[in-house]
Amino acid sequence: MPQTIVAQATATGLSGLTVIRVSGDKAFEIVDKCFIGKQRVIDAKSHTILYGNFVDYKEIASQARNDATVNRHCGLDPQSPEIIDDVTVSIFKSPNSYTGEDTVEIGSHGGNVIPMKIIETLINAGCKHAEPGEFTRRAFINKKINLVQAEAVVDLIHSISVPTAQTSARQLRGGITNELEKLRQQLINFASMLELELDFADEEIDLISNKELLLFLENAITLCKNLSNSFTVSNILRDGFYVAIVGKPNAGKSTLFNSLLNKNRSIVSEIAGTTRDYISEYLILNDIPLKIIDTAGLRETVDTVEIAGIKIAQETLEEANLILFLNDISLGENFSDDLFLEIQNHYPNSDFLLVQNKCDLVYPDGIAGQARNDSLMFRHTALDAVSPENTIYISAKNQNDLEILKNKIGEFAKKATENTNDILLNERQYFKLLEIEKSLLSAKTLLLEDTVSEIISIEIRNAGRLLGELTGETWNEEVLNSIFSRFCIGK
Ligand code: GDP
Repeated sequence: MPQTIVAQATATGLSGLTVIRVSGDKAFEIVDKCFIGKQRVIDAKSHTILYGNFVDYKEIASQARNDATVNRHCGLDPQSPEIIDDVTVSIFKSPNSYTGEDTVEIGSHGGNVIPMKIIETLINAGCKHAEPGEFTRRAFINKKINLVQAEAVVDLIHSISVPTAQTSARQLRGGITNELEKLRQQLINFASMLELELDFADEEIDLISNKELLLFLENAITLCKNLSNSFTVSNILRDGFYVAIVGKPNAGKSTLFNSLLNKNRSIVSEIAGTTRDYISEYLILNDIPLKIIDTAGLRETVDTVEIAGIKIAQETLEEANLILFLNDISLGENFSDDLFLEIQNHYPNSDFLLVQNKCDLVYPDGIAGQARNDSLMFRHTALDAVSPENTIYISAKNQNDLEILKNKIGEFAKKATENTNDILLNERQYFKLLEIEKSLLSAKTLLLEDTVSEIISIEIRNAGRLLGELTGETWNEEVLNSIFSRFCIGK
């Protein structure tokens, strides 16, 4: 029997209330050692709440309780032990709890002292402090949720935007797992039928036609492909749509970064090369989280610190979903074309926005800059490398036309997140799906080559096994440890 565990489920620090969770077969017995209310926890019905005193667990506590069962109300007995807090105790009987085990949730006052004292007391009374994610791990072991749902719990807690939270909540409630489970069952059935055919090999009985099997494999491959295609969108929803700001030193990158975020986070300076590393911040635009990254000035340099920064900038560009290339228009509309083309050649598949900055210096009344934004005809296209509608004229310093730029960024972000499939895929799930797809493709090839069913069934069984690993039907300690180590304590 696993030990009964305890941990604070709510965040630590100053707060009005705190919830402390106790789970395990001795949960009721242990909490009863420290709780004095009108009713014992062990006698209460599931899904009820008791009110009473949480007391320091000492022998005297059980003694007092034994002596004064009639007097079990809050602290009237002069013999009663030290009261730590008045608490509510919510009772969930197995299997109807988050973990599937007997569970008690103690609601106490918040802050740093009381919850710690309550946890310490429960440990003295027989609990073990929970490991990170141990409650959810037990929920998984007790088949309350599968592995994909358990992973959705982490995403839900770490959500950085409303769509991320909605998608992970849907996944937690079942989402794709039903579909995957159905596919796993079908794979097992098809493999079994192919194997059964072998027993009737002499009679040449076909339990399933090649046509039927081919159709099934093709549908399964499409399902896996659709799901694995959601990986990029999942990354955007989980970590944000990466928008990297690049350009020559002094183009105004840090100024734009600050203006977009409305804060002074980046160092703005007239000396070229002040942003030594890169810094990033989140900005939510149309419900989509954007991760705006201010890169180091891209230029030849002998300063080693800056070289390191520039290397990071280049790595950042590789990951960027959109690159904002900034040019200082006061030095000429084509001033940065050389660097721009160099970067474009380096990242031919990336989306670019060409941002002509410092328009206030060239068009002091702002009208000409605005006119260019209004009319595609006048827009500069760096040696035709960027389409005119992807060139925007702004003044980062005066915040002129920033809305136009934001809208444009929003358009790119929206397009990139259109195909969500309503799922949030993590790296483990993505690579598992690729393995499944590979197995299914190989089964399809074998089928088309008219290979004996025995060999085809091996591939189909393999796909089923991999799918079981994906949903957690089969698992090993190592995989569980790596998944649950990402959880916080108390979840
Ligand atoms: P970075 O090296 O590309 O990060 O450039 P900074 O943001 O540090 O800006 C360099 C200089 O250009 C600073 O003096 C900024 O105040 C100035 N600057 C940035 N944007 C504008 C702008 O839109 N108009 C004007 N007039 N100056 C700007």
